[in-house]
Amino acid sequence: MTAAVSAADSERQAILVVNTGSSSLKFQVFDLAGGALQCAIRGLIEGVGTTPQIRAWRGDGRELPAEGFALTPIGQIAQVEQVEHPDTQSLAFDALWQWLPGQLDGARLIGVGHRVVHGGSLHSRPVRIDAPVLAQLEGLAALAPLHQPHNLAPIRSLLALRPDLPQVACFDTAFHRTQPIEAELFALPMHFYDEGVRRYGFHGLSYEHVGRRFAELAPQAGAGRVIVAHLGNGASMCALRAGRSVATTMGFTALDGLPMGTRSGNLDPGVLLHLMRDRAMSLQQIETLLYQQSGLLGLSGLSADMRVLQASSEPRARLAIDYFTYRVAREAGSLAAALGGLDALVFTAGIGEHSAPVRAAICDRLRWLGVEIDAQANRESRLCLSPEEARVSTWVIPTDEERMIAEHTCVTLGLN
Ligand code: ADP
Repeated sequence: MTAAVSAADSERQAILVVNTGSSSLKFQVFDLAGGALQCAIRGLIEGVGTTPQIRAWRGDGRELPAEGFALTPIGQIAQVEQVEHPDTQSLAFDALWQWLPGQLDGARLIGVGHRVVHGGSLHSRPVRIDAPVLAQLEGLAALAPLHQPHNLAPIRSLLALRPDLPQVACFDTAFHRTQPIEAELFALPMHFYDEGVRRYGFHGLSYEHVGRRFAELAPQAGAGRVIVAHLGNGASMCALRAGRSVATTMGFTALDGLPMGTRSGNLDPGVLLHLMRDRAMSLQQIETLLYQQSGLLGLSGLSADMRVLQASSEPRARLAIDYFTYRVAREAGSLAAALGGLDALVFTAGIGEHSAPVRAAICDRLRWLGVEIDAQANRESRLCLSPEEARVSTWVIPTDEERMIAEHTCVTLGLN
């Protein structure tokens, strides 16, 4: 660890958080003011790989100018020709790196935290990145081919641009490494488990943030048996006992468990055999089907977006929502069994935080478990939805994966 990293320096210091997806790059800059993390800038580059555009805002909501955000000539050629450039995310990150210093108001970046989807079985906590760690994470790309290479591209860029700047990888899988072995197993011959074919679980940064926040709000319930439902475009659920993950719905990949915007969720593996043998579908076709054409979009034939489905009068839109709430309730029953009961249910992410009808339908299906909510509190998306006498308390807690990454980055670099 470099001695240069010290929060005691008198100048303003900041942490950059980077969260790269297949066609977008989200980022946030946090000021380290007196040990507290203040969001100074949050932004998004959309259209990575086609026509990247930046939008960014100060912590107080004022929008920042996009001037100065430009790709290098090589980047422009790759983008305009829509070549599947191996490093379109690196090019977008390089452009962000050129643009950012003009927006920092003199603050100095002293560390960068990255969201990395897969830490495999080795990483149960964030890790400082160097060349050997990067090589090891690249070796995990086969476990998350649609995410891991995108996550690693900016890390590689920055190692070349600023080898002196400490970088930290924060994993979606790490939080689940507290699970007992039976929660991680598939009933395949055991050597597959030893070779890495196991349930890893994802959305761990979200669960960690929400779990901590919940423990602050309701210490007694937080020390007990809690299910967190992260219902966004990607969706999963996690069973926490005393704040630690004991089971989750996603498994080897982020395809398993709940139906999602475009992903199928849990599927009989026999369906895959049928698609390959009797329909002669290729690997590529099956991958596209399961990741991009299924879930809410596949069922409704209309949209992956819950808002669109809720506004539609199409019977298939209603069916897709009903299937979604049915599966969430079934998985909640399964996770409650893993916990041996339930003390609290917490909703988070886009649908969980904002869709009162979806929450109401799920809670209605879980009445048998002691879930009970106040209709008015639910309509207003209040923090606590349940009446005091409810056997299981129900909550809405906004997720903030970027803040969790910033916190981990500070701790990993010894900044607090
Ligand atoms: P991601 O996994 O991409 O981070 P989000 O957590 O942002 O996804 O969630 C996106 C989902 O949340 C979309 O299906 C969107 O329709 C849904 N959503 C956002 N706001 C609302 C709302 N007010 N009512 C219903 N659904 C909403």
